[in-house]
Amino acid sequence: AAPSAPVPQAAPSRAPCQPAVFIPVDRTPEIQEARLKLPILAEEQVVMEAINENPIVIICGETGSGKTTQVPQFLYEAGYASSNSTIGITEPRRVAAVSMSQRVAKEMNLSHREVSYQIRYEGNVTDETKIKFMTDGVLLKEIQKDFLLSKYKVIIIDEAHERSMFTDILIGLLSRIVPLRHKKGLPLKLIIMSATLRVEDFTDNTRLFSVKPPVIQVDARQFPVTVHFNKKTPLDDYSGECFRKVCKIHRMLPAGGILVFLTGQAEVHSLCRRLRKAFPYQKNNSCCLCPPLNVLFSSFLSQALPKIDLNSYSVVPVDEGDEDRDIDSDDDAAGSDLDLDLGDGDSGEDEKSDSSLPLFVLPLYSLLAPEKQAKVFRSPPAGTRLCVVATNVAETSLTIPGIKYVVDCGKVKRRFYDRITGVSSFRVTWISQASADQRAGRAGRTEPGHCYRLYSSAVFMDFEKFSAPEITKRPVEDLILQMKALNIEKVINFPFPTPPPTEALAAAEELLIALGALKELKEQLAAKLSCPISPLGRVMATFPVAPRYAKMLALSRQHDCLPYTITIVSAMTVRELFEEFDRPAVSEEEAAQLKGKRARFLQMQKVWAGQGPMQKLGDLMVMLGAVGACEYAGCTRSFCEENGLRYKAMLEIRRLRGQLTTAVNSVCADAGLYVDPKMKPPTEAQVTYLRQIVLAGLGDHLARRIQAEELLDDKWKNAYKTALLEDPVFIHPSSVLFKELPEFVVYQEIVETTKMYMKGVSAVEPEWIPALLPPYCHFGKPLENPPPSYCPGTGRVLCHRPSVFYRVGWQLPAVEV
Ligand code: ADP
Ligand code: MG
Repeated sequence: AAPSAPVPQAAPSRAPCQPAVFIPVDRTPEIQEARLKLPILAEEQVVMEAINENPIVIICGETGSGKTTQVPQFLYEAGYASSNSTIGITEPRRVAAVSMSQRVAKEMNLSHREVSYQIRYEGNVTDETKIKFMTDGVLLKEIQKDFLLSKYKVIIIDEAHERSMFTDILIGLLSRIVPLRHKKGLPLKLIIMSATLRVEDFTDNTRLFSVKPPVIQVDARQFPVTVHFNKKTPLDDYSGECFRKVCKIHRMLPAGGILVFLTGQAEVHSLCRRLRKAFPYQKNNSCCLCPPLNVLFSSFLSQALPKIDLNSYSVVPVDEGDEDRDIDSDDDAAGSDLDLDLGDGDSGEDEKSDSSLPLFVLPLYSLLAPEKQAKVFRSPPAGTRLCVVATNVAETSLTIPGIKYVVDCGKVKRRFYDRITGVSSFRVTWISQASADQRAGRAGRTEPGHCYRLYSSAVFMDFEKFSAPEITKRPVEDLILQMKALNIEKVINFPFPTPPPTEALAAAEELLIALGALKELKEQLAAKLSCPISPLGRVMATFPVAPRYAKMLALSRQHDCLPYTITIVSAMTVRELFEEFDRPAVSEEEAAQLKGKRARFLQMQKVWAGQGPMQKLGDLMVMLGAVGACEYAGCTRSFCEENGLRYKAMLEIRRLRGQLTTAVNSVCADAGLYVDPKMKPPTEAQVTYLRQIVLAGLGDHLARRIQAEELLDDKWKNAYKTALLEDPVFIHPSSVLFKELPEFVVYQEIVETTKMYMKGVSAVEPEWIPALLPPYCHFGKPLENPPPSYCPGTGRVLCHRPSVFYRVGWQLPAVEV
């Protein structure tokens, strides 16, 4: 082990590059000692000189070299923060923004009033904030309010190698803001930090930076990591293979933490369970049963909701990064070949092991509560070995100390979007070579380590080198709306580090026109994607939600619908409300139990709905009912557990309701909304309006049931034609409208599992369509060359335009002569 560095008592000796200002920081000796071991400390002078002398600097260094935690401190000490200027630092992941602000506050011995964070729903920024960690989306919104970012002297874009969509856009925007600020005589420094990956996309991009910015390489003191490939690649059961590998490492290899990479939350938990059972350290908790729901429900009907205190809840970061829903495998397949270095282990690891050393097993994924995440940074209890089972958050965002062994399943769960239709699905795919090397690198932070790859070297050679930037892979309507709100009309001319595909830009522009967010100027459309934003679009751009939902909010001032729309939008924005869909049940009994619990919300909804039009708001009504009942009961953990609701989702909804309410109030000063403690169930009329509002927002997600007389193939019985997809789709079995089968519906999303399914479905009356969605209708003759999927309806037809979209049109009845 390295000898511990001497501990300086007073302020450390300073780099001579900043003699003018030095703001002392009062660090504890332990922190100071830990800092001195970080490679970036040796580079402080080089880093600060480069920053002082250049407007834009790129810092590259291996994960764990100290970029995120130390560079803001260098800048602080050099006087870049003052009473009227903040050091801003963006992270693509909420987890990182929250946990890094906490870590830096602790290192600097400052309070959260001075080192703060801001993520979409939540933050602790004050007037005294000197260092502000935020998600990239938050800074983008700030640019909308103040294009020159005048309250910042420095902006650090962290984790630029992740190439998140908002990070890419920020770099494009800042490449223009920095010279503008220079002209004004108020220079802004831009620091781009990244792992050592593909920096040329930024440096060698002359559209982005006319002068190539200096690149500082931080020499990470990386110890050698021996990489072991499997001889064969297991086909499916990588989870079981991870289990076997961890068991062997723990039994046979010397002390040192183990870090396992899996693809999602459900897998992480199931492997944690198996490992805890095999090498017990912790005790389990038990849970209890619940009072009948309809009592609570009837009170919800007639009484006021309790007042909501929006400040009394802690952060539950939601991150799409490692979302998981439907893919998890915990089956035991036949064991594959054993790793040479570990020798042949015995079988039967699933049984309780008699190994004396307990394994201290911790999960790590982005949805995990911050206090639980923080556990991985502490030393494991004496006499145990640390084993962290993580998703790819541990790849670059967070560095876990003391890891000597990495077990890499080689997979990652990604959300795939159809660029045009936006249909998304989660798929587990192979990682890139760059990711595999990042993962391996986690093993060599403190001493030489080992990385066990559960795939063969031949498979590794087939991996793509880097994963493609996010902006090239997903629909971009939210991005385009934000850019138009910044008066960037010709999106196509924007200096993207990597531009999105033109057809994705066109689809986004077309959707925004349909939603009324952009002014449709026919000539301009032809002149390549340059429609300006409309007043409605400006209102929509201020809401921190996707354009479709923003449109719903913008329409909802009528008939006092806002509180309900806010609730519905909040509920649609958070990941799964119901536990039933959140994770695979542990047993069949549990599955049945969870289903029963959700069924009671359906029962409740029927009582509430009185079989009237409320029923037709479908799944969104169930969400509204669940939130209403839960809030009535005080939104407690026990209520959620008893009723199969995800407690974290409910807290998130509550917080979002608060934030959307504030956003609405700031848009229309006279709205005077507050999170309504008296949210009564909506009246029948309001539900009808809500259905229209939902239609107006989700208009391009319209679908019409294939009528019996139009049915060409029995496999499409009960299927729907959508405006966006070639093939018909089905209502998801979990939907309350699964059996109702209304003729027209709108859906929240289509997910592809065994079939293409619509989720979040509500029914629509056909006569609303031309009134609310004129761009999606046309009057006149049916098409001359209808596509094969053409449905000869009775007056209403699904028709096809020569564009990428199907549109729902109306055929006028023939005029009787
Ligand atoms: P980089 O940004 O270059 O990847 P960081 O600044 O995130 O590096 O991390 C530097 C060091 O600080 C790492 O060794 C990491 O383990 C440690 N560290 C980061 N966050 C915490 C924390 N919350 N508690 C303890 N150590 C931490
Ligand atoms: Mg970092």
